[in-house]
Amino acid sequence: MNFTFASDNTSAICPDAWQALEAANSGCEPSYGDDALTRGACEAFRRFFDAECEVFFVFSGTAANALSLASICAGHHSIIAAEESHCEQDECGAPAFFTHGARILIAGGQHGKLDPGEVSRLIARRTDVHFHKPRAISISNSTELGTVYRPDEIKPLADLAHAHGLALHVDGARFFNALASRSCTPADLTWRAGVDVLSCGGTKLGMAFTEAVVFFNRDLAADFAWRRKQAGQLCSKMRFISAQWLRILTTDAWRRHAENGNTLARELAEGLGRLPGVEILQPVDANAVFARLPDRMKSGLKQRGWKFYGFIGGGSRLMCSWQTTKQDVEAFVADARASL
Ligand SMILES: *Cc1c(COP(=O)(O)O)cnc(C)c1O
Repeated sequence: MNFTFASDNTSAICPDAWQALEAANSGCEPSYGDDALTRGACEAFRRFFDAECEVFFVFSGTAANALSLASICAGHHSIIAAEESHCEQDECGAPAFFTHGARILIAGGQHGKLDPGEVSRLIARRTDVHFHKPRAISISNSTELGTVYRPDEIKPLADLAHAHGLALHVDGARFFNALASRSCTPADLTWRAGVDVLSCGGTKLGMAFTEAVVFFNRDLAADFAWRRKQAGQLCSKMRFISAQWLRILTTDAWRRHAENGNTLARELAEGLGRLPGVEILQPVDANAVFARLPDRMKSGLKQRGWKFYGFIGGGSRLMCSWQTTKQDVEAFVADARASL
């Protein structure tokens, strides 16, 4: 079975992260983040975003999302998100669990993005005490459908949030893919557009076992250290997580890896798009291709060993990562053609 396009977390650990782990692997250092590499990694985040942000590392994107949403919301609050959003569809209710009851409200939009008009209607729809009070907007960038919000698409959502006492959270499991696809700075795509908290993904970029929670709104970070510990997300040998972030953020590694996934997704979409009966369903802004493939092609590809999913977006989802090669793309397209 070939898992190349099944997800961006089927890939191995990238050489940069692996070498950083190796280089950190000697001697004894303070535990639980009280070490020089962790201080360096947090400082690297502040330089990367050009902001005095608070940074915490956790093990999974589910933890990053649920714990950051729990820093915003209590149990009587609601979180406005898109239908496809990971926090609604793929976290087994973790945001509700860690907030002790907050509910996710689905707002409409296209291509995995929230429509500000829909969000606005949802905020205004119920203000009585018998219904959850909206307290957060959560968007994903890049989205679950492989599209990317521009800063001028984030700003209206942030303005709307802040005008009504809500905070804006970004699920950035694929934040670097989003960043690499837009010619703007990390600051432009986050706090300058009004983002309060970012779940910043390491795993799908190629790192081992880590996501960062980045608070641009530092008031929200006040109790996060305790929240993380209570949730079992405080890594005792933190330096091995920090070493990877330090390497990834202070070299061109994040851009190289994100661009590789984005470029090859575009080439895959172009290759498949030329075949009869194939329909590309979403704009390919980042490292995902959503395509409606003829049934014969789908079964032919599966017979030839390719593994991919069709659980969201109404078609087949093909993901590219730091590890995907031009040869992988060519082989997949050749097998798709041969299956017709
Ligand atoms: C993969 C992913 C996550 C994180 O998932 P974990 O498996 O908990 O690490 C979060 N959001 C999105 C949009 C994702 O694709």
